[in-house]
Amino acid sequence: MKFRTYLLFGSPGSGKGTQGKIIGTIPGFFHMACGEVFRALDLRSELGKVFLEYSSKGHLVPDDFTLKLWHQQIKNMQVMGRFKPEIDHLVLDGIPRNINQAKLLDVHSQVIKVFHLQCPSRPKLVERLKRRALKDNRLDDANEEVIKQRLAVYDSESMPVLEFYGDRVINIDATIYPYKVLREILQHINTDAATEQPAS
Ligand code: ADP
Repeated sequence: MKFRTYLLFGSPGSGKGTQGKIIGTIPGFFHMACGEVFRALDLRSELGKVFLEYSSKGHLVPDDFTLKLWHQQIKNMQVMGRFKPEIDHLVLDGIPRNINQAKLLDVHSQVIKVFHLQCPSRPKLVERLKRRALKDNRLDDANEEVIKQRLAVYDSESMPVLEFYGDRVINIDATIYPYKVLREILQHINTDAATEQPAS
């Protein structure tokens, strides 16, 4: 059985994590942010060093490594009883970030919809990221060169993922208040729920 999955998709700073965290508090939804899985690694371990090497330069961590870690974490969450695929929807943010990851994810996940959080203003994104650097102690948000690199990677590698998902993509203006973004997302989830069997 494949995981019933919603994707939160958007550039760094578009608010995927903010939305994901809120949706993850709703019964029946399990939120997982790929970047958080990486940041939880012990940075002295081999895995942690790989993550640091790539993320500190604004690069994507290699796909096989990323997907393996992601799958391991999902399995852990199932064993711990925090994610129950029979009744929960999975809400992913930060994965997939390129077409290859989208194909690899397909093996485990049935992607229902992709919420594309759009923020066309680059200066606004950079400002958000710098603010987050101070608040969350994120090294990769503190340096303007690294930010530029991440945005460039988003444009060249991540944006094509939207074509991969075609008409499953819902474009949402991410520059409005977070509660309004949330309302938009939930409205689309609501449409799906109406056509699904309620979990007993
Ligand atoms: P943001 O979306 O703001 O860039 P994340 O927390 O999602 O922040 O990711 C932080 C870093 O972790 C990325 O810049 C990248 O190096 C690495 N990373 C996260 N998710 C992936 C992924 N799916 N594939 C490869 N690298 C990833």
